[in-house]
Amino acid sequence: MRKRIGAELSREAPVEADLVVPVPDSGVPAAIGYSQESGIPFELGIIRSHYVGRTFIQPSQEVRHLGVKLKHNANSALIRGKRVVLIDDSIVRGTTSVKIVQMMRDAGAREVHMRIASPPTKFSCFYGVDTPERAKLLAAQMSVEAMADYINADSLAFISIDGLYRALGDNRDPAQPQRCDACFTGDYPTRLTDVEENDPAATLALAAAR
Ligand code: SF4
Repeated sequence: MRKRIGAELSREAPVEADLVVPVPDSGVPAAIGYSQESGIPFELGIIRSHYVGRTFIQPSQEVRHLGVKLKHNANSALIRGKRVVLIDDSIVRGTTSVKIVQMMRDAGAREVHMRIASPPTKFSCFYGVDTPERAKLLAAQMSVEAMADYINADSLAFISIDGLYRALGDNRDPAQPQRCDACFTGDYPTRLTDVEENDPAATLALAAAR
């Protein structure tokens, strides 16, 4: 399924490039799909150490930056002088994307194009997935163009919500939702009773953002 999402992303957001490089490990299946659909060669241009702690559970921004730095290393022998399509599965805070794009540039990439195998994550999850509050979601704060500037990519594109459903072999029917997609659409499948009771201002802001 993730390969099909990568293939759909390639059809929706093509780019002329020399290499498709996944952000390991989250971007690997989608990058294989993007590469197969586009014909651009797939390369493991970033090596990930499995011995360094996951950045998601580390508390401070400084430690998170350090974690990204220790965890990923670019293979500059592959990257130097190349136009690279970087594939990841999502952008949440943007912290990892900033570091990875810079890592590609430091390794000598000529162009860095970021492609994301999910729609922009604009809304928090209230069902148990540990996304941060909206104020910390990069896509809730800025446009795709501004995000491209922020992460210093030559271009940035996300799969559309309809493209995501196409890749699943499905159509999105808001009247009869089959799956939750609220973190992309703000279309929560239940009333957010805690938020409504405790934070009316946040409830109004959510409704306005949909
Ligand atoms: S799709 Fe729904 S349940 Fe899954 S992370 Fe997004 S908001 Fe949470």
